[in-house]
Amino acid sequence: MRSGQAGPEWTGMRESEQVTRKKNSGSRDKKLVRQRAAVESRRQAQEYAGVPADIVKLLESPNILPEWAKFYRAYPTVTAAVEAAHRGETAEVFSSEHEHFLLRVITLDGDPVVEVLLYVPHGTRDALWSGLLHSADRQDTLKRLPVVLPQLLPEDVRFEEVDSVVEAPGPGAQLPRFAYRYRVPAAGLDTWKALWDATRQYMPLQEAVGWYDTRAAENEEAVEILRRHGIPAVSCGACGHAVTNRHPAWPGTWVDFDPDEYGPRCPAWDDSALTAEDDLDNLAIGGPHQVDEAVLSASLTMASNE
Ligand SMILES: [Zn+2]
Repeated sequence: MRSGQAGPEWTGMRESEQVTRKKNSGSRDKKLVRQRAAVESRRQAQEYAGVPADIVKLLESPNILPEWAKFYRAYPTVTAAVEAAHRGETAEVFSSEHEHFLLRVITLDGDPVVEVLLYVPHGTRDALWSGLLHSADRQDTLKRLPVVLPQLLPEDVRFEEVDSVVEAPGPGAQLPRFAYRYRVPAAGLDTWKALWDATRQYMPLQEAVGWYDTRAAENEEAVEILRRHGIPAVSCGACGHAVTNRHPAWPGTWVDFDPDEYGPRCPAWDDSALTAEDDLDNLAIGGPHQVDEAVLSASLTMASNE
């Protein structure tokens, strides 16, 4: 009875009180939200003076990659990067999130230029390295590679204004890097958005060398193309990886160039005969890649006679 009487009355009070409170807290919340927004926009205005809105949005995003955050903070516009290049600064960003991508602003004959290098995917690189290591005359092969590099791309992304580049080995490295490069005059480009708009036609090329695209020739397919051009790249007859037996650390053993946690062994190696029933006795340790050297030298001779 007591609860029955008190219930509705109490509930009613609470309800009306809640409504009032809601109203009050609603307007108080709105006021707080407005105040916070004002503080936030003052902070952004101070922190990002002169930075285009789209770059501010990127820099404020939790998803921005650290290398791009660093680059955009240093050079929020193309103009800022050009000014830095004129000062002798290296305005560049390298990212390997989607593909090996390098953008830099340089001066060529005094004119500012935005240069983008798209490095070949790992499987393409491995075939090129194999071809180079097995060449009798490496210097001659190095000279010929820029001509062959476009052949490793799908036809629809081969542009005349894209250069094929063979870069000298980086510090501590022994083999060169391979990339596709395009350059755009920076004059007239102020914002990064203007640059992306001006270079939209290269997006398919960028995608083709990306980690999730399979259209660029890699490993076995790239080896075949290189051999057709007389460059003696080698692939494993079992797994198709580009391989070499001239690896400085593994002379005489066929290994690939991209060792995973199991080492540069052949994933197609048949070690079933070595497998014991007990894990402790298991000899399933894999083996080297398998190359029929007679077949390979024959196919290359045929290719160079064509
Ligand atoms: Zn193999």
